[in-house]
Amino acid sequence: MVENERKDDNTGDSGGKSPKKLRVLLRTFGCQMNEYDSEVIRSILGQEGYTFCDSPQDADIVLLNTCAVRENAHRKVIGHIHALHHLCQDRPFILGILGCMAVNMEEALLANPALKIDLIIGPDSYRRLPELLARAAGSGGPAADTDFDISENYTGINPDRVSRVNAWVAVTRGCNNFCTFCVVPYTRGRERSRALTDILAETEKLAAQGYKQVTLLGQNVNSYADHATGFSGLLQAVSRVQGIERVRFMSPHPKDFPDAVIDAVAREPKVCKHIHLPLQAGNSRILKLMNRTYTQEDFLALVRKIRGRIPDVGLSTDIIVGFPTETASEFEDTVRVMEAVAFDSAFIFKYSPRQGTVAQKKYPDDVPEEEKTTRIVRLNAIQKGISLKRNSRHTGKTLPVLIEGLASRRSAREFQGRTDGNTIVVFPGQPGLAPGDIVPVRVTAATPHALKGETASP
Ligand code: SF4
Repeated sequence: MVENERKDDNTGDSGGKSPKKLRVLLRTFGCQMNEYDSEVIRSILGQEGYTFCDSPQDADIVLLNTCAVRENAHRKVIGHIHALHHLCQDRPFILGILGCMAVNMEEALLANPALKIDLIIGPDSYRRLPELLARAAGSGGPAADTDFDISENYTGINPDRVSRVNAWVAVTRGCNNFCTFCVVPYTRGRERSRALTDILAETEKLAAQGYKQVTLLGQNVNSYADHATGFSGLLQAVSRVQGIERVRFMSPHPKDFPDAVIDAVAREPKVCKHIHLPLQAGNSRILKLMNRTYTQEDFLALVRKIRGRIPDVGLSTDIIVGFPTETASEFEDTVRVMEAVAFDSAFIFKYSPRQGTVAQKKYPDDVPEEEKTTRIVRLNAIQKGISLKRNSRHTGKTLPVLIEGLASRRSAREFQGRTDGNTIVVFPGQPGLAPGDIVPVRVTAATPHALKGETASP
């Protein structure tokens, strides 16, 4: 997650300054799609002459690009708003709420005077940001646009990218799956795919700018379809753009992995051998309540098929513990599947009801909080052991690593990068090496979260 931040006391007044003189603090919460959207937002405002700053004290405008995926995300944003009001009591500023929370909490946010929000904009309306900012600055009261626009893919907008190593390329927007716990279909609207020609044009431009890696983004990225071209065709076409060395994708759904897609990942040398495969739960009754459209057996069969075709593939997943009515023995199914699959890594969350979702409306949040805590602590401990074992299989091997940057801001001695399988590697820098380089690294040690290594001769 990219974090920029800021704030002040917000009378919604920009002091009549022209955009060229207004400084924006943009803070991004949540998923990679929000990171991409923030790069689009930076580009749209940059075109209008707005400039960006990093500290609250310097900003005339605060834009929070928010996430609504869990209660925690909501609480975090509300906490930030109050902290920022406190921090900047003596300066006028404009406060805007963007992203998923803007859509599913619009009324509540505007109805709460203590939040002093001037602007509310949903993920399909960022092209209107300059106009709505001007209206908010005119202080005719809050400006808002949270309508869906199925035609919007921000084609023609050149994202102002944060990373110089990995470029996000959104290939679909929205989602039609309506998993019962998920708010995304209600905040990002119906699914649509970008034209293949636009995606290839963007990828060629990125290659010309020196990008070695692109990550194809979508809420359900592997349901991509542009006329006759499906996701396997997209992977093949993007990975054949001159100059691009690595192609990743996020986030796929297990229901959309036909053989053609698995074959494309296996066959195309530049498509990274890492698949994020969100399981969510191990028990088939719970998967049905979640509307995940697959059973425990289907998921295990898919993993067998993928590993049969790509033996050393890196697999990661998402898990929700404590979904309504999940019994202790049904939770044991999640434990069993996690142990059977042995994912390289897992993002594990407690269930929290989302306003407006089917689960929130139909199922009581009846698993006690302490029990959710017991389950998440246990699953994290199990996964830690599995990740260490999975990472240890690389010890002694020499692997190609794409350097992403310095391992920590405190020391310039070590680089951090990722293997093709998406495992983090930390190793001493060498003169002449720089972020964006792909270097052979001999793995000397493993931890549950990363590998240690040293550069090896090619
Ligand atoms: S696939 Fe399910 S979990 Fe993922 S964004 Fe769509 S509705 Fe949400």
